[in-house]
Amino acid sequence: MKKFKAIVLKARDKKEKDKDILLFSIEEGKAWATLKGVKSPSAKMKQAQIPFTFGEFILEEGKAGNIVTSFEAIESFREFSEDVDKYFAGMGVLEVINCLEFSSAAERAKIFVLVLRALKTICFKKINPIYALDKFLIELFAETGTEFSTEKCSVCGSKSFDKLHINYLTGELVCAGCKDFNCEELSKTTFMALKILKNTDFDRLESLKLSSGSEVALLRILSRNFEARFDTKAKFIGILS
Ligand SMILES: [Zn+2]
Repeated sequence: MKKFKAIVLKARDKKEKDKDILLFSIEEGKAWATLKGVKSPSAKMKQAQIPFTFGEFILEEGKAGNIVTSFEAIESFREFSEDVDKYFAGMGVLEVINCLEFSSAAERAKIFVLVLRALKTICFKKINPIYALDKFLIELFAETGTEFSTEKCSVCGSKSFDKLHINYLTGELVCAGCKDFNCEELSKTTFMALKILKNTDFDRLESLKLSSGSEVALLRILSRNFEARFDTKAKFIGILS
């Protein structure tokens, strides 16, 4: 028997009345588990098949894998289903985790906390949800070893740069003198969006107003950097299509 708190990343049909859910937890990382009989109208654990659900799960190991034997919701994030922009940004967070492999339990723990903060901000705060998705990706890079340096060139250390470029090979920001063919120039507004979001806590995003469109331009760059860092493609459906 295993007992842990987890976030539901996605669900897929199994047998007639069963569903498999992909859980993300500090203890187990990502793990599939079966919800028995969950498609019947009277099923007790119905909430557990809905992505975003955060709860406490008890799993028994069966012959064909994990079976959920108990589930208690901690946060349902129900508001995601009422706002399509919030929903897409929230799904973006889940999609990123879906694509990631974790190197250690310590890293998982940090990212688990980050995911919950991002989801809570997107779901419950009055903000442009893309701000929080950008912030989530900026923090994710920092937690996984490539923090953006917005004050100086990451290669030569120069602080007197006109524009910075992102190097997709290293995930660093560099000056014009240090750029190569792996680099893309950041426009002034995109750089400002990155710098401001890096220095603004999730709790304070509500009062933030970035230059119009810069948050989407930044998301494009962060998403390309994500692909380069982790060698995987996250689908930000409905945002970057
Ligand atoms: Zn430089």
